[in-house]
Amino acid sequence: MKTVFTCIVCPNGCEIEAEHEGKQVLSVTGARCPKGEAYVKQELSDPRRTIASSVCVTGGVLPLVSVRLTAAVPRDRIFDVMREINRVTLTAPVKIGDVVIRNVLGLDSDVIATKNVDAE
Ligand code: SF4
Repeated sequence: MKTVFTCIVCPNGCEIEAEHEGKQVLSVTGARCPKGEAYVKQELSDPRRTIASSVCVTGGVLPLVSVRLTAAVPRDRIFDVMREINRVTLTAPVKIGDVVIRNVLGLDSDVIATKNVDAE
């Protein structure tokens, strides 16, 4: 069967048409680089996404700190991960790179802070 994907690996956003049988890719057209085929294979076999969000901070000069995942997680677990992130409240100070949740939900990805928040 044929499926059209929009590659999200870089800003070019190539439209890639893939001929495949189930998860097996037979051919791809439209990718400007080899990463496009790898992206299509990943999308067909194990689609993953990463997310950025924010977490509440108490006792800091800001009420929130931005966070991100260190590795993409299965696309169908994104809302579970968001729920875990929303449960967390940190106490200032928070430093860039602090691990907010280690190995979130056992998905081999940490939630880390991407901003410094000093104590008041
Ligand atoms: S196929 Fe290559 S050039 Fe095109 S969007 Fe994907 S990574 Fe970028």
